[in-house]
Amino acid sequence: MKWESQNRKESNAMSEQVNNVKQPAPDRIGMMKLTQPELYVMRLKALAGDLSSFQLAAIAEVAERYGKGVVHLSTRQGVEIHHVHKDDLDDAKLALAEAGVEMGACGPRVRGILACPGAETCKWGVIDTKQLARELDERHFKRETPSKFKISVTGCAHNCTKANENDIGIRGAIEPRWEAAGCTDCGHCLSFCPVKVIERRDDQQAAEGFRYEVDEERCINCSVCTSMCPTGSWIAARSGYSVLIGGTMGKIPRFASVLNPLVETEAEVLALVESAIAFYCEHGRKKERFGHTIDRLGLDIVREEILEGALQRVEK
Ligand code: SF4
Ligand code: SF4
Ligand code: SF4
Repeated sequence: MKWESQNRKESNAMSEQVNNVKQPAPDRIGMMKLTQPELYVMRLKALAGDLSSFQLAAIAEVAERYGKGVVHLSTRQGVEIHHVHKDDLDDAKLALAEAGVEMGACGPRVRGILACPGAETCKWGVIDTKQLARELDERHFKRETPSKFKISVTGCAHNCTKANENDIGIRGAIEPRWEAAGCTDCGHCLSFCPVKVIERRDDQQAAEGFRYEVDEERCINCSVCTSMCPTGSWIAARSGYSVLIGGTMGKIPRFASVLNPLVETEAEVLALVESAIAFYCEHGRKKERFGHTIDRLGLDIVREEILEGALQRVEK
């Protein structure tokens, strides 16, 4: 296939490019030079945005002793200590490690996994975001990729951790179904559906004389109807994960594309993520964000290849 041979050439070229990129030493990943000579920022890992109070105390102490007594919180749940002298990096790293604080990631690799509180504590949460973040972290954190690679897990369509702005975004999702029992025909769901895809129809065949329907093509699987119907007449016929690919901010922003609107098991999500990263590592060019690889090759064919790769992984 022309597409395949073209991409094999590109893939080989990309591998050479990646191999030629000057990478930081493994013990310096997460440490970046500041504009001030000899000073560094230490980026720390806060998986799913969580750190224990003990870890926070240790971070504060290291910032006091080796930095300027300031801890910077990044937009991606990252924690950074700035102004650490290069000669203090090893001691600071050791003090953090003793408190169980790991270094974060920088450069062309998988960054810290973002997650909102999810179903564990949030009433809107559809999925256990923290558990999935841990699984993704174990498999992919610091894995080398053609450019930086960001993953976010968000518990529902409120999208607090901005799944659409990440190379892979995973969002809790439901497939709604209307059940006549209990429905008072109040019509509120027509207005609270955020994308207005619920319709009321007269139905002389039904005992109630009406029914409510969803346009499944346009439904964003958001769980507003199942959460807000006062009689519980909207139920989640299926629930699980929407998987999005190719989102990025930065100089050339791109909104993520839907890879699969709803998969029901964590195993399927993990297979999709593995397949997507493998695809990107094979076909992405150096410094090309995943979304721009998708645009260069075409969404349909990329989606097809990733889904096929995931299926093979699940079957194995
Ligand atoms: S995305 Fe949903 S589950 Fe997560 S914190 Fe926001 S409202 Fe809660
Ligand atoms: S499904 Fe719920 S919100 Fe919609 S009309 Fe029936 S009772 Fe009202
Ligand atoms: S899941 Fe969301 S988008 Fe779909 S019908 Fe319910 S409220 Fe509307």
